[in-house]
Amino acid sequence: MSITDNLKTLKAEIESVSVKLVAVSKTKPIEDLQEAYNAGQRIFGENQVQELADKYEKLPKDIEWHLIGHLQTNKVKYIAPFISIIHSVDSMKLLQEINKQAQKNNRIIDCLLQIYIADEETKYGLGFDEVIELLESQEFTELENIRIVGLMGIATNIENDKQIKEEFYELKTLFDGIKISYFKNQDSFKELSMGMSADYKIAIDQGSTLVRIGSDIFGERVIKHFQNEDN
Ligand SMILES: *Cc1c(COP(=O)(O)O)cnc(C)c1O
Repeated sequence: MSITDNLKTLKAEIESVSVKLVAVSKTKPIEDLQEAYNAGQRIFGENQVQELADKYEKLPKDIEWHLIGHLQTNKVKYIAPFISIIHSVDSMKLLQEINKQAQKNNRIIDCLLQIYIADEETKYGLGFDEVIELLESQEFTELENIRIVGLMGIATNIENDKQIKEEFYELKTLFDGIKISYFKNQDSFKELSMGMSADYKIAIDQGSTLVRIGSDIFGERVIKHFQNEDN
């Protein structure tokens, strides 16, 4: 199936339940993204800063770019002028740098806090205690150029639907608790980014609002980019 066909099938399935699709285009050439764009896709996700910035330059400006991979503080400046959402915020230090660069660009940058839910040591993310600590800290209240719009998580890469379901369920429960405790009257805290090609159906059942899908749209990647690759 072509990229266009894959997208059509996925969009019909995902958008019928009001979930948004982030087309994960890492490692894929510009022509593949252009095909997806021509088929109506407007949200693209990349996990490397340099690659994302290059593609931003070359493609239409009405694309919403999402950074989904680990972000180093010294690279924030390259995407700060245009990034739509950073999915992978996992420390106060990073949040402060995003705030600083957003200020320089005279804008507010939307961020998701990445929560560690997998049963794997290599995955980035904040623990359940750490996210609460961050939200309660004095430093957090001082950040005026970032907006936390939700949470993100990556389930364990395993063929065990029950375990994956439990991990997503825990993230949704945390999301609901955080919403009530810290963002009660803020409609902007509404995104729960969970689900990839292998597990997006389970994620949607568990309350995902944003699925990040790569190989089901663009085909298998030749070069594997893993989550623990530094940006
Ligand atoms: C690569 C990647 C995806 C997409 O993975 P697929 O299995 O190709 O759908 C989603 N989320 C993150 C964080 C990724 O790095």
